[in-house]
Amino acid sequence: MREKLVIIGSGPAGYTAAVYAARAGLQPLIYAGENPGGLLTQTTTVENFPGFPDGVEGFDLVMGMQTQAEKFGARVDFDVVERLELTDGGVQKLFLASGTEVECDALIFATGASPRWLGLPSEDRLRNHGVSACATCDGAFFKDLPVVVAGGGDSAMEEALFLTRFASEVHVVHRRDELRASPIMAERAKNNPKIVFHWSCAVKEILGDKAVEAVDLEELKTGKTVRIPCRGFFAALGHLPNTALVKSLIELDPKGYVVLKNGTSATSLAGVFAAGDCADPRYRQAITAAGMGCRAAIDAERFLEGK
Ligand code: NDP
Repeated sequence: MREKLVIIGSGPAGYTAAVYAARAGLQPLIYAGENPGGLLTQTTTVENFPGFPDGVEGFDLVMGMQTQAEKFGARVDFDVVERLELTDGGVQKLFLASGTEVECDALIFATGASPRWLGLPSEDRLRNHGVSACATCDGAFFKDLPVVVAGGGDSAMEEALFLTRFASEVHVVHRRDELRASPIMAERAKNNPKIVFHWSCAVKEILGDKAVEAVDLEELKTGKTVRIPCRGFFAALGHLPNTALVKSLIELDPKGYVVLKNGTSATSLAGVFAAGDCADPRYRQAITAAGMGCRAAIDAERFLEGK
């Protein structure tokens, strides 16, 4: 199977690239990936996407993008890309879980990012049984119950503040005695009477047989263990770029994000472009991902024209 343009990823970056590429007559083929729609499908109302003064559900927003792309001739496939063989300016090859092999002249990589976990076995075992990385998805399950949030960045403050709408108390556990979060978010969290901070503490273990019952913390300065009874544990430790597929094929930065050339969407290989959270350690917003998708489609179109 030979395609002009393949897009890997179906969040706002992938679908915006698809809208632009489809309107340019490139009939892009999109591989939606293991989580079609990406992280937007896990949020509730998105209030900062311009054009929606009353907010829009994340799921509806991304589904609208898909419909818009398909209207102009983009095709969406739910097969999973397992391996890539990339060349500098030549044919790019995709190997799919179904055994199909696809070749294309240009590729847009828009695979997003995934939440970072602590890596504790108990975190894995109790995932979806009280352990979550998305307060907007799961917060409502913890009405009048105590919860723990791990992390000290803006995400952790946002998750903790959101959880105060439901939980009886929100314990924020941070490994240092200073937050990474912006002053405004930190202030809001510190002023909320439902939020209790546990400074310089590491999460040692999440306890519970079938569901979360407590979290054990180690006070890093004293070595003492403190047990917090709770029913929910939220990891808010930032995100990791989903770039395993292109590791050692294109240039990545030390944190694993795709390196883009000269403020464009070009990667270290001609004909391979990247957009969205997989190439953006800084902004990671739906609107910035969409903008990056637009740039990638325009760059890919010009590359194909030049060919
Ligand atoms: P960050 O990388 O900023 O923060 C991650 C937090 O998790 C840090 O406090 C870090 O600790 C902690 N952490 C990471 N790994 C571990 C670990 N293994 N064990 C314990 N703690 C750990 O990620 P965010 O998602 O919070 O933010 C990413 C970007 O998105 C930022 O630019 C942020 O400003 C932005 N953002 C903005 C929002 C807003 O303005 N409303 C909301 C959400 C995000 P340490 O500090 O010690 O490194």
